[in-house]
Amino acid sequence: MCALSLWEISRIAAFLPDYREGVGQGVLIYYCDGTTHWLSRGLRSFIAKIAKLFAVSLKDMRRKYGPAIGQANLAPLVFSPFLLFVPIKVRTPLVSGDPAYGYFRLSFIQTVSQKPEPCSLMMEGSNRLTVRQSFQAVCARLHACASLERTIINDFWRTMDIKQHYFYLHSFMSDSFLQENQNAYGIKGVENEKGVSFMELRNLMEILVVRRLDEVLDDEKEEVCRCNQCRMDMAALALNDLTPRYVVTQRGETYSKADLLEVQRFVDVLTAISKAVKIVHNNPRH
Ligand SMILES: [Zn+2]
Repeated sequence: MCALSLWEISRIAAFLPDYREGVGQGVLIYYCDGTTHWLSRGLRSFIAKIAKLFAVSLKDMRRKYGPAIGQANLAPLVFSPFLLFVPIKVRTPLVSGDPAYGYFRLSFIQTVSQKPEPCSLMMEGSNRLTVRQSFQAVCARLHACASLERTIINDFWRTMDIKQHYFYLHSFMSDSFLQENQNAYGIKGVENEKGVSFMELRNLMEILVVRRLDEVLDDEKEEVCRCNQCRMDMAALALNDLTPRYVVTQRGETYSKADLLEVQRFVDVLTAISKAVKIVHNNPRH
C-alpha cells in the first residue's frame, strides 16, 4: 500500500501495531473481506496519514472525543461521521513508548466474547482478534463509542438543509418496498381539489415509532393497555424524546425500508418507546 485510497481505508476492519522479527515495528491491517496486510510503517505515522487524507486534526480529535471514553490521551479515531475506530489495548509494548493500542472500526465489530481470554472481537471478514483488556472494559468502551457515534451523526444531520437531507435519505431508496409501505402504514401523498400533487413533509421518526410500538408492547411482561388514548400518548412521549427526521416527498411517494433502517441504526428508537410505555402505563389518561 503506497498510496492510501479512501476505498481502501473504508475496507479496514481493524489495524494493530505489530512487531516482526528482523523487520521491526509495523501495522497489521485486517480488511472487512477477511484478508490481512502487514505494512512496514509505524502505527502513529499510519494514523497521521489517514488523518491528513481526511483533513482532520488528531489533536482536536483527542480534545473533543477523548472525554467521551474517559481517556485524556486516548480517543476514538473519527475520520468521518461514518468512520469511527475504537482504541483497544492489544499488547504490552516491548519497549516503552511503543504503541499498545489497536484500532477497531465500530461498525465492523460483529461480536465480543470472553473466549479466548480475556476478550476477543469477531470482526467483519471473520477475523477473531484477542485483545489485552477485560471483557467488561471492552464492552464499556464500545458502549461509550456507540453513544459518541450517535451524537456525531446527530450533529452531522443537523447541519443538513432539507434538500441535502432528502438527497441523503433517498439515495438509499428502493422501489420494491414502496407498495408495501404505502399499504401497511397508510403513508400517502397530499392531493388538492384539482388533483395536482404537491410536496409534503414527513417525519420518518413518526413512522418508525408508530411502527415499532406494537413490538415493544408485545414484549412487555406486564399487561399494558393498548387503547387508542394510551397508544397515542406513548407515541407522543417517545417522539418528544427523539430528534425528528424530516424528508420532503411528492404525492404518492414513500420511504423505502432502507430509509427507515438507516435512521434506526443511529437512534435508539426502542429505548425511547419503552420509556414512554412505562410512563403511560403507570399513569394512564384513559
Ligand atoms: Zn388505555
